[in-house]
Amino acid sequence: MSTFQAPKGTYDLTPPSSATFLAVREAISAPLRDSGYGYIETPGFENVELFARGVGESTDIVTKEMYTLTTKGGDQLALRPEGTASVLRAALEANLHKAGNLPVKLWYSGSYYRYERPQAGRYRHFSQVGAEAIGTEDPVLDAELIILADQAYRSLGLRQFRILLNSLGDKECRPVYREALQTFLRDLDLDEETRRRIEINPLRVLDDKRADVQKQLTDAPKLRDYLCDACKAYHEEVRALITAAGVVFEDDEKLVRGLDYYTRTTFEFVHDGLGSQSAVGGGGRYDGLSEMIGGPELPSVGWALGVDRTVLALEAEGVELDLPATTSVYAVPLGEEARRVLFGVVTELRRAGIAADFAFGGRGLKGAMKSANRSGARYTLVAGERDLAEGVVQLKDMESGEQTAVPLTEAAAELAKRLG
Ligand code: AMP
Repeated sequence: MSTFQAPKGTYDLTPPSSATFLAVREAISAPLRDSGYGYIETPGFENVELFARGVGESTDIVTKEMYTLTTKGGDQLALRPEGTASVLRAALEANLHKAGNLPVKLWYSGSYYRYERPQAGRYRHFSQVGAEAIGTEDPVLDAELIILADQAYRSLGLRQFRILLNSLGDKECRPVYREALQTFLRDLDLDEETRRRIEINPLRVLDDKRADVQKQLTDAPKLRDYLCDACKAYHEEVRALITAAGVVFEDDEKLVRGLDYYTRTTFEFVHDGLGSQSAVGGGGRYDGLSEMIGGPELPSVGWALGVDRTVLALEAEGVELDLPATTSVYAVPLGEEARRVLFGVVTELRRAGIAADFAFGGRGLKGAMKSANRSGARYTLVAGERDLAEGVVQLKDMESGEQTAVPLTEAAAELAKRLG
């Protein structure tokens, strides 16, 4: 293995393509920031217990995919495989729910880790931007989150995504369904592991991707037929609200998602250009999670959108984000004296809030102008000995190619004026 190789299932973000990644994070979080969600950041690792209790002992994430470690002090930690449990833990620890301002609306952005079999769109380290609205049961809140995710994807120019929506019921009706489903599943021809799953988490069996399993599931009892009146009414309200907002969705009664904590509303955003790893984001309501991790009753709802797959979705749709050049002015000094003088101008520009860069290393005009071009700067400042003797710098408009001599002392002000 080469020393210069990222670990299996991971990749680096490097310029210039890393700019797209940043822009996606920005675009996903913008609607949240404009809708009353405050930023939260939690550690990259937590006590293993939090995820075992929160995400669920029977889920793939906890049983197979967690990076766990024992510290020198004997603590059992896990790199976070998802964000919700950590964010809820942090909100409880900080007593945010007691500040008399429910729901507590939070957004986050960061790295997540799952020991999965790597393939296109599935990595061992990936990035999510997420949102959680903690402590309120209100269908408007579920609708708000779905609408904001839709808005985020649309603002990026994505069109070929679909929203799948389902209700998983609550602690009244889900257990009744669960039992009916278990009775049905126990009669099927399934392997040992799947049989075990029937006993621990039967809903996940519905999620099985294998064709021979799916074939046997055709007549499985449907959760929809077991929803209690309260859950039905709640779900109808969510559907009506997002419909009224003009957001198109598909009812998908098979959608159960890979985490145990969901209740009632669950949804997934899938993109049709991504092949098998088509989920670009997902979420739902998790009314019981707080109690599962030892907190008070706090009905909540949230989602997480995958940044990596959103970037892949942009590529699949051929969407090029309109990213403004990061450098506005590029300075090219010719000679020692020009180096000091132009660096002074660059510093002045930067302090005035104008993005400026510099040809370092005493490079020749040709090479330096290539770098100026590559930087995307609108203007270059070139100065040699003769210019300095005359007290001027050459200001070149890289779009029109037009070049003018500007008094050195006025260069920064002139650029500020031209750049508006
Ligand atoms: P989940 O918590 O599994 O619902 O994940 C939410 C979103 O995170 C998914 O829709 C994906 O976009 C993204 N995601 C989850 N796991 C991975 C992974 N292993 N690699 C890349 N993206 C992922």
